[in-house]
Amino acid sequence: MDELVSLCKRRGFIYPASEIYGGINGFWDYGPLGTALKNNLRDRWWRDMVKRPPLGPDGNEISIVGLDSAIIQNAKVWEASGHVGGFNDPMVDCRETKARYRADHVLCLGVKGESGGQIYAFIEGEDDSLAAARKKLNKYIKRDVADDELDTCALTDLSADELAITVGPDTKAVGTLTEPRQFNLMFESSTGAIKSEDSKVYLRPETAQGIFLNFGNVVDTMRVKVPFGIAQIGKAFRNEVTPRNFIFRSREFEQMEIEWFCHEDEAEQWFEFWCDVRSKWWQSIGLTGDNILMRKHDDDELAHYAKEGCGTFDIEYRFPFTFPGFGELEGVAHRGNFDLSRHQEFSKKKLSYFDQPKNERYIPHVIEPSAGLSRGTLALLCEAYTPDPERASKVYMAFHPSIAPIQAAVFPLVGKDGMPEIAHKLWSELRERWDVVTDIKQSIGKRYARMDEAGCPFCFTIDGDTASDQAVTVRHRDTQAQERIALDKISAFMAEHVG
Ligand code: ATP
Repeated sequence: MDELVSLCKRRGFIYPASEIYGGINGFWDYGPLGTALKNNLRDRWWRDMVKRPPLGPDGNEISIVGLDSAIIQNAKVWEASGHVGGFNDPMVDCRETKARYRADHVLCLGVKGESGGQIYAFIEGEDDSLAAARKKLNKYIKRDVADDELDTCALTDLSADELAITVGPDTKAVGTLTEPRQFNLMFESSTGAIKSEDSKVYLRPETAQGIFLNFGNVVDTMRVKVPFGIAQIGKAFRNEVTPRNFIFRSREFEQMEIEWFCHEDEAEQWFEFWCDVRSKWWQSIGLTGDNILMRKHDDDELAHYAKEGCGTFDIEYRFPFTFPGFGELEGVAHRGNFDLSRHQEFSKKKLSYFDQPKNERYIPHVIEPSAGLSRGTLALLCEAYTPDPERASKVYMAFHPSIAPIQAAVFPLVGKDGMPEIAHKLWSELRERWDVVTDIKQSIGKRYARMDEAGCPFCFTIDGDTASDQAVTVRHRDTQAQERIALDKISAFMAEHVG
């Protein structure tokens, strides 16, 4: 990871934010190459999900429209969404059910003197929750555990290892609870000249809520019919307690989210559809090997989703710092109709949908593929990083040509004999369609080395023969192989290899 971070700095992918002032923890600036890479990833997602989305399960076109909502919204939005609350308390999140608990309200159940196994969490003062935890414990121990055998402790007293074997209050799976963290993770600001409780606003911690807020507007103003999706890409802010691992967990980051609105009866089918679409998409941009993991939590593991018939689905990547484990890149979740119902309740505005042909009014269910653009960029950087002691740069970035920040370089071998002019002409033509650079300085070997670190897949070199044979040498980044190619075949070559 240290080597990658240093390459990112050296080659202009990512710099620490406010570096000349000593930096600021959890914030990063994207340099020219990082910006190009991230934009390519973003544009590819937008093209494949919004401009020409995949065909639906029945082979027909589906409809997804774009949105760009404000980062700052009415503070009530975050009350309705559940993000405001328990302001100064450490909170525990359940990664599966998305439930959020005050850490000091969660107690844990085990059997005295027995080591290992599982620990069962329940909510203090809630008899149902305690009964459910007892039942799960009995099932695990395979007998009825007597009261005096029980060991109870506060969740806040558990070690990280114990937390990893803890079953949340409404899951069957172990290890779904996060470590207690100080909530609120939202950054606060205020609007207007006078700072008071009433002027308090928050920077959005996710892009999703902006979509729910505009569900009614989109239905009223566009010719959309459920099922359809609304997509948004944008910044999100979380005052993470421990930002770490480069851009993996930062305090300002970007998300690419779709809220897919459908009828409850069709939710399961759409859930399967989106898991499949999103897995294939990450593979299509080069994350194909053992480093990518698609993980469905099935009904058995998940009481909460079992009743819906859907699970949650994680697309995970094996980052160097999670190795041999994996870290989440994207989650596909079935959110039920929780969000729209809550906004309807809090705003007192109708957010139901009227299906005219069926004469039915309902609040749609939502399938949410929620991906990290920043984390995706990091996964692409990690996947591309390829040490090679044999070559001058000792390392090259093997980006998939379609998302490489520089897709081709055009080099005159030397700066004379008409070579720069031919190079300039070729560069001007290619840059109409692709991200192409030209460079005349330094030896050709040094220029290749620079392009290897930038991850440029093809270098076209104009030499002394080009004027007469109308051909150039193309050098392939990964194999370093070189071949001769006619000048008038280069566009076709690029179209074939880059897209
Ligand atoms: P984690 O458990 O890692 O904190 P999460 O489950 O809270 O993530 P979601 O709320 O589901 O994440 O957000 C969706 C996506 O947004 C994640 O899959 C991830 O790619 C991205 N993301 C979330 N938090 C951060 C962060 N602090 N920095 C960078 N990306 C993030």
